[in-house]
Amino acid sequence: VTSDYAIPLTQEEEAFREEVRAFIADKLRPEWIGVSELWSRTDMTALAGWTREVVAKGWATSSWPVEFGGKRLTVMQRYILSTEFGRARAPLILHINLHMVGPLIARFGTDWQRDHFLPRILDSEDFWAQGYSEPDAGSDLASLRTTAVRDGDDYIVNGQKIWTTNAHNSTEIFALVRTDPKAEKKQAGLSILLIPVDSEGITVRPIRTIDEIHHTNEIFFSDVRVPVSRLLGEENKGWTYTKLMLSAERESVAEIQPTRTILDDVLAVAREAGLFEDPGFRRRLLDLEFEIDALEMLELRALDVSVQGTELGYEPSLLKIQGSKLRQDVLQLGREALGPLAELMPSPDRPQIAGGRGENILTDALIFRAASIYGGTNEIQKNIVSKILFSLDEGVI
Ligand SMILES: Cc1cc2nc3c(=O)[nH]c(=O)nc-3n(C[C@H](O)[C@H](O)[C@H](O)COP(=O)(O)OP(=O)(O)OC[C@H]3O[C@@H](n4cnc5c(N)ncnc54)[C@H](O)[C@@H]3O)c2cc1C
Repeated sequence: VTSDYAIPLTQEEEAFREEVRAFIADKLRPEWIGVSELWSRTDMTALAGWTREVVAKGWATSSWPVEFGGKRLTVMQRYILSTEFGRARAPLILHINLHMVGPLIARFGTDWQRDHFLPRILDSEDFWAQGYSEPDAGSDLASLRTTAVRDGDDYIVNGQKIWTTNAHNSTEIFALVRTDPKAEKKQAGLSILLIPVDSEGITVRPIRTIDEIHHTNEIFFSDVRVPVSRLLGEENKGWTYTKLMLSAERESVAEIQPTRTILDDVLAVAREAGLFEDPGFRRRLLDLEFEIDALEMLELRALDVSVQGTELGYEPSLLKIQGSKLRQDVLQLGREALGPLAELMPSPDRPQIAGGRGENILTDALIFRAASIYGGTNEIQKNIVSKILFSLDEGVI
């Protein structure tokens, strides 16, 4: 049901698809397959190993300036890559490294920052965490309270971040901090610091999530000294850089191909459970597939806009809203297909169905409740979309 491309390929594109398939056959190690189902995403060896291969091939740096290792890809090449990697259940590449912080350091960093960080990012030597949210600053991020006060050649950082995904496996964190508490607009007094996670004065504490797995953390900063050389770009311009990074994050949250892969798993489970014969169930499955196709068209449009070099408008927000909703809907259908088995957490004693393909559905269904929250909640994304649409002169709605 879900194996065809949504749009026909030209001969050139087919040749590229064959090249991608050959690369996967050659480089994707069996032990890396499937590690990116979220509950086991902390297998950093697999993520780094696969990322290194894809970077070396020149397929992971399309958002980088060319002079720092960026390799342009066409819209269709990017689409083919994500489709083939998704189908092969390849690990996700290190997104925060390569699509968020890497391109920003390339564009706005100092010579020292570029020389020090970029090779380490390209080589997957460093793992970066994203230090934005605080206990009282999530949707209203600009009201954050972590401060950085200049003292000679250092900043002294005090405060707390929360929900920091993968900080326990990270070597570096880019933290949004308040450098000018007196700025007229609260957005104007913020800066980004590039901080080693093992700095003296940093404490990382785990937050256990509902799937009983350690993904995310609280981070406490107590008089942490950060050299001024680790300020990204200009002081008090952090909000501008943050918006650029969040837009990249929202695009990635759509993760369409992994959702298709889960839908394939649901289909396998449903067949074995005899549910595929039920017209009502089959209808819901097909409806979801059509919605995924529609989202894929939106993704292609967004890719087209960004490859043209035009700034994206509401597309990342729409992709985020609909991508997270579809992932949740597909997993909910999977839970129904599993029946009572859906209530059992994975364990060696749990009876298997469809050769184990339903194994992750419960834990994923639990943790992906968070998908409509992280990357900026879906309610906030709807606000952004309506703001952009209503400000258009032509009256698009
Ligand atoms: C699993 C997970 C991983 C995360 N990883 C990271 C990470 O790595 N780094 C990081 O910095 N952050 C991370 N976050 C934090 C995430 O970005 C925030 O949780 C999110 O921005 C929401 O902020 P909040 O939790 O403070 O909720 P609040 O902002 O307090 O929102 C509470 C509710 O009110 C609604 N609401 C708030 N304001 C409005 C409004 N103006 N209009 C309509 N509705 C509104 C929200 O939609 C939400 O439903 C993660 C969160 C989760 C759950």
